Amino acid sequence: SKLFSANQNHQKIFSPPPPPQQQQQDSNPHAAFDTLDLDGHFSFQNTAHASRDFGNRFFFRPAAVLHPKSVSDIASTVKHVYEMGPLSGLTVAARGHGHSLQGQSQADGGIVVNMESLTRRPSQGHLRGGGGGRYVDVSGGELWIDVLKETLKQGLAPKSWTDYLHLTVGGTLSNGGISGQAFRHGPQINNVQQLEVVTGKGEVVTCSEKQNAELFFSVLGGLGQFGIITRARISLEAAPDMVRWIRVLYSDFSKFSTDQEHLISLDESFDYIEGFVIINRTGLLNNWRSSFHPKDPVQASQFVSDGKTLYCLEVAKYYNSHHDDALLQQIQGLLSKLHFITSTLFVSEVSYLGFLDRVHVAEMKLREQGLWEVPHPWLCLFIPGSKMDQFASQVFGSIVTDSSNGPILIYALNQSKWNNNIKRTSLVTPREDVIYHVSFLASAVPSSTGKDGLDYILARNQRILDFSLGAGIGLKQYLPHYTTQEDWKGHFGSKWEVFLKRKLTYDPLAVLAPGHRIFKRQY
Ligand code: FAD
Repeated sequence: SKLFSANQNHQKIFSPPPPPQQQQQDSNPHAAFDTLDLDGHFSFQNTAHASRDFGNRFFFRPAAVLHPKSVSDIASTVKHVYEMGPLSGLTVAARGHGHSLQGQSQADGGIVVNMESLTRRPSQGHLRGGGGGRYVDVSGGELWIDVLKETLKQGLAPKSWTDYLHLTVGGTLSNGGISGQAFRHGPQINNVQQLEVVTGKGEVVTCSEKQNAELFFSVLGGLGQFGIITRARISLEAAPDMVRWIRVLYSDFSKFSTDQEHLISLDESFDYIEGFVIINRTGLLNNWRSSFHPKDPVQASQFVSDGKTLYCLEVAKYYNSHHDDALLQQIQGLLSKLHFITSTLFVSEVSYLGFLDRVHVAEMKLREQGLWEVPHPWLCLFIPGSKMDQFASQVFGSIVTDSSNGPILIYALNQSKWNNNIKRTSLVTPREDVIYHVSFLASAVPSSTGKDGLDYILARNQRILDFSLGAGIGLKQYLPHYTTQEDWKGHFGSKWEVFLKRKLTYDPLAVLAPGHRIFKRQY
């Protein structure tokens, strides 16, 4: 099949080390794993769930699914696979909530570890420390929504988020974890104090900036290549109760980007800064009215969005109910410096939990309409700030002629505000301080051959990539997907040698996370 031919593109990229205690074992995991003494269990029959993901495009069936009940279940399974040696050919993929897009959490004929079985009940989360050092220890299989609900009970919350919280801690830390708080706090991988990891040799290692630092930084943004995150220590801050959530529109891209870059440069700014592109939509502002109130309803009702390319700046300020007056003044001060279309100021007031869990509301609606479990040909990019105008003028309105297939996010980030150690992680971003995150989050209509169909959207994504390559935009993919080793090398650029060295150190037989198809399991 097409999928298999993609797999054939692998080349042998390094020589295997001397095989560990090589045993002639039956490669059938059923027999091979009978000897393991587990707290949890293997499932050899009900594996269909583990052979699909949110992308709904790649389906690889594993030989078995491990439902671990302890870290040692995961460690002894990986160790066993490693010690079976190259002959077994088995791979192991950690599966968080399976919300990756191209089979990254799948293991073709291998073992999928269902990380959600490892979650401790939220009540057992450990909140410790005082002052600035507050943190929570959570399982790698915990959903961020449960981490939030649990920490809120103590009036605390993590600092950096993703837009959608029904993702696991291990899943987002393997990528980066970005949202509208990252301009200030950095991605989620910038807010982790310590990890417990099972390496590709089955060793359980605790790591941090100070202890086993090389493994710590490898794993963060490491696409699951170096170890399975079984526990993470996440930094916390005092949680607000409420959020003032604001949207304004621009028709001029340079005004929009100037304002975003201005806002992310300030020391005192909004707590959340994002944005999205609207192309050729009708009745846009009417759709907002259910949750947002226009500042000036008469003027807003005269604004016509139809057919235009518009840029929505979305910002939020957190607050506790009793700080309201100062907050309003501060927001007013920030807005007065911006250049949006004045009639398009919309405001909403929501709880902090409601704000952070906002995409779940959209999910429920889409599920009701049967539009959630469809193919998702997403393209997520980081664009260097200096090239953003060029990218926008060619892509928005030209290559992408409408935004009805799904949101197009766009927001600026200032890497100079991030913890410098992020450079040591495996995350790859363009080198400039100011970069833009641009995500085309399309849903395809199954079996359609039109503009809303999978083939059309994939071709459109390719045009964006081809244009960017030809124009020397220097983008980096976020949630990267490549099918050849050359492309992976290009993605990592100057980080490739380090990435390869780390792989040889922590997962020398390339047992882990085969779904990215970066390394071939060593036979
Ligand atoms: P999975 O899909 O299960 O796994 C992803 C990868 O991580 C796989 O390679 C897997 O092997 C590995 N992995 C999983 N668990 C572990 C572990 N414990 N240890 C080591 N490796 C592991 N991302 C953002 O940054 N910001 C967003 O705002 C954002 N919004 C999203 C909204 C939606 C609706 C969706 C579907 C995705 C979104 N993402 C976002 C992307 C998301 O962060 C990644 O797809 C993430 O990998 C999903 O987490 P998961 O738990 O489903 O991981």
